[in-house]
Amino acid sequence: MAIESVNPATGESLRVFEPHSAEEVERRVALAAEEFPRWRAVSFPERAARLTRAAELLEAHKQELGRVMTLEMGKPVGAAVAEAEKCAWVCRYYAEHAAAFLADEPVATDAGRSFVRYEPLGPVLAVMPWNFPFWQVFRFAAPALMAGNVGLLKHASNVPQCALGIEEIFRRAGFPEGAFQTLLIGADRVQGLLEDPRIAAATLTGSEGAGVSVGRAAGAALKKVVLELGGSDPFVVLPSADIEAAAATAVKARTINNGQSCIAAKRFIVHRDAAPEFERRFVEKMVALKVGDPLDPSVEVGPLATPSILSEVEDLVRRSLDAGARLLVGGRRLDGPGNFYAPTVLGDVPPESPAAQEEIFGPVASLFRVGSVDEAIALANHSRFGLGSSAWTRDAGEVERLISGIQAGAVFINGMVKSDPRLPFGGIKHSGFGRELSIHGIREFVNVKAVWVA
Ligand code: NAP
Repeated sequence: MAIESVNPATGESLRVFEPHSAEEVERRVALAAEEFPRWRAVSFPERAARLTRAAELLEAHKQELGRVMTLEMGKPVGAAVAEAEKCAWVCRYYAEHAAAFLADEPVATDAGRSFVRYEPLGPVLAVMPWNFPFWQVFRFAAPALMAGNVGLLKHASNVPQCALGIEEIFRRAGFPEGAFQTLLIGADRVQGLLEDPRIAAATLTGSEGAGVSVGRAAGAALKKVVLELGGSDPFVVLPSADIEAAAATAVKARTINNGQSCIAAKRFIVHRDAAPEFERRFVEKMVALKVGDPLDPSVEVGPLATPSILSEVEDLVRRSLDAGARLLVGGRRLDGPGNFYAPTVLGDVPPESPAAQEEIFGPVASLFRVGSVDEAIALANHSRFGLGSSAWTRDAGEVERLISGIQAGAVFINGMVKSDPRLPFGGIKHSGFGRELSIHGIREFVNVKAVWVA
């Protein structure tokens, strides 16, 4: 795949980049390995000062950075600017809390003194996706750098300007060159890096297929890996819920990032007593969405990031209709240039059809009807994914059953699933393993060292 910025709203090629040569990759990996012992010796306050400076740069340049994101991958520009702000938040969060998260922890044993110490591992390779091109990188980099690791970023091939922009932010914030570097390389060069003894660990956010490849290569090299993969999040609505609020949030939760979010709600599982009202309101709001140029601040849904994602969405919808789903609205690509797909609602989706079992990365909602809380939970769990979930009810007993019954990395009650620096983020089953964010994220790429002193 070429390393190229193509505007998904127009199909216009903006810039093509020459991939880094083998010599340049070697230079950067060597620099990371040389920098690591120096960087790990830098104190927490000094690391925090640089990360705070990175936050200030993100805030000061959020408009330009947002525009680059929108031009490369098509998210509405307001959301892109908000993404830059959120990156500043995660930088400030770890600048403030990392020292406490990684402080020595005394443990009472038979020793004169014993404790747990958290130490960095070394250069960590981050293989990242285009869909949140800044956020995915910063939520890895902020804790990793605060823990004393150094980072090497292999970003998705369609967002090279974001990749280089992030590298530039760290450099301007005062991080040593070897602390954070971008590698402009294709996916075919990841395995070689994972085999390189200087790379200590890896993290991948991306599709299941990429997760299998990276997980396998990291396993063969006996290296720690965190995998943040796809999702097909359930959104459960029970009769006591505020149906208007649920429907309004459901539309947002399905169409955020033009429908291309791992934690977008994808399967709407509605109790039959609430279904007619929920479906009517939901379809009305999906029809009312403004689709168009993502640089127009009033636009709510922009194009899909690449022509191949558009083709995949078309294919999944067609096969779901063939399997018996009912088209309530949309179901087609839009005329004209760019990778636009109409907001789409599928009703009566058969539980084994592609819309129920695959992750649809576009503005396509699948509706299901159930007759009880137990049936809702069983259908929510009838997926190989287990990333996020949202459930709507005002009944306290149902809240407890949903929290403990749904198999996922997160349960949000009467709200939309979102990432938050204070809460752990990650999945189970084919959604991956390991956690990002919060105290749990910063403890992924550390040696948890037991110390026992007689
Ligand atoms: P992708 O095709 O898997 O690409 C993600 C990254 O992995 C890119 O840098 C890509 O490089 C690289 N890659 C792809 N195949 C690889 C392989 N076999 N070996 C090594 N690296 C490989 O995913 P995407 O289409 O960019 O992103 C969408 C997916 O990410 C969705 O499934 C979404 O749910 C998931 N996602 C998950 C989370 C989460 O936190 N759980 C968050 C966001 C997105 P190239 O671009 O060079 O191919």
